[in-house]
Amino acid sequence: MMDAELARMMGALGRPSRAAAAPSTDPRRTTPKGELKMPKFVKFHPEDPATLLNEVFWEDPNDFEPYHSDFTGRTIYWGTVPMRENGHADINPWEFGGRTMESQQAYTKDSPRPEIQFINVLMEKKKAAMKEVDISELSKRDYTLDIHVEYMPETKKIERKIRVSGGLSLAVFSDKVMKPLFGLVRNLHAHIFQDFSDGSQFGPRDSNAIDVIHHLDKTGYAYIPDDEYTLAHFLRKPGDELGYLYDFGDNWHFLIKVAEIAPVEESTGKVVVLGGTGAHPPDGVASWRWIDLMQKVDASAKDRKAALDVLYESSGYAGQRWDPHFDFAEFSVPATQRAVAAAVASKLSVPGGAKHFSALLAAGADDALVYPSTLKKGQRLVRTPVPRADGAPARVFMEEGVAQERRDNPANTACANCGSPHGLKACSGCKQRYYCSRSCQRANWAQGHKKVCTGGKSK
Ligand SMILES: [Zn+2]
Ligand SMILES: [Zn+2]
Repeated sequence: MMDAELARMMGALGRPSRAAAAPSTDPRRTTPKGELKMPKFVKFHPEDPATLLNEVFWEDPNDFEPYHSDFTGRTIYWGTVPMRENGHADINPWEFGGRTMESQQAYTKDSPRPEIQFINVLMEKKKAAMKEVDISELSKRDYTLDIHVEYMPETKKIERKIRVSGGLSLAVFSDKVMKPLFGLVRNLHAHIFQDFSDGSQFGPRDSNAIDVIHHLDKTGYAYIPDDEYTLAHFLRKPGDELGYLYDFGDNWHFLIKVAEIAPVEESTGKVVVLGGTGAHPPDGVASWRWIDLMQKVDASAKDRKAALDVLYESSGYAGQRWDPHFDFAEFSVPATQRAVAAAVASKLSVPGGAKHFSALLAAGADDALVYPSTLKKGQRLVRTPVPRADGAPARVFMEEGVAQERRDNPANTACANCGSPHGLKACSGCKQRYYCSRSCQRANWAQGHKKVCTGGKSK
């Protein structure tokens, strides 16, 4: 959202911004309930009028009452966002945008906004609590997980069953398992894992995905990096759940639920796709729009065509042939297993170099002018033209700053052949891929690593 556009919209709503009011040295501010009140913990900058700040931030983060939904039994977004009766976050985008506008000038990274002062305490408390969680046994056990997209109509369910090691880090699970499992584009949008017991959230470290920049406020302001925690930290027994929110603008909510945890002696660490229903959700389409389309898709030929048009315009289906016979229920275990295997065989995506879309300003425009980039050492811009469904030449590009020479951290990756996080050793030729065993290394070598391994020796 552009600030000017937002200002215009707020003006149209008749809600004047009071950001221009005289600086106040009074440490108190008026809460949304209309009380002039001293905050118990946060400190307001004199130029922050806090007119659009949520009531909870006058509390002490050490003992506040988090917002919780009795309807869903969940606490989301650190418990700082009010919830409606149905358990959804009660978010007014104009208030969130207005809050950004009234506070963004006053605070800096070193003296953060009251929201971040508050969440920082919650994050430190959560990190301390996570240190006490014993994962020594569970991280060696294989989990059978049922994962589905929430809020889809009964007839258009999107669900998957998969077996993975409890020792996979959340970051690896997101990048190499969740994305290919649901046909989402890797490293395009951001995600957060949500622990519903306290609303704590974990997401991509240093992500510069566009949805982090524009929408993180609406999903709880901040998150703990997810590369230091494993599935076993959160999923302790059958029935345990973990939320996964993908794309903070389009809001795809997934629920990850434990069906079974295998004994250590029956666990291999391999990622195995066991089943599923439903074609993958269209990356780049708002979830509520898709749910709405899916409720009507069987009603008439016109509704069906509208849904297909949206699907084929999405980034997940870009360039595929428009097919009137598309089956919304279709799911293939072998095809999905291949997609997961391809992700597992590649390096971990670099969230600091997240993908974004660019459109050429004019045919033949100077790329350097169109795409100024600030890549870090070892990163390179990879540009993929996105073909258009009508066959016209591509003028939109998906770009990603990827560390070509950077190795995965062995503590935060998986065997390039089977997806196990255990006992990883680097390929002695190139040091760029990790394997859990000699047999996995040999299998991956035969399947194509010999063509790309810069070490050049046969294995
Ligand atoms: Zn392996
Ligand atoms: Zn190699």
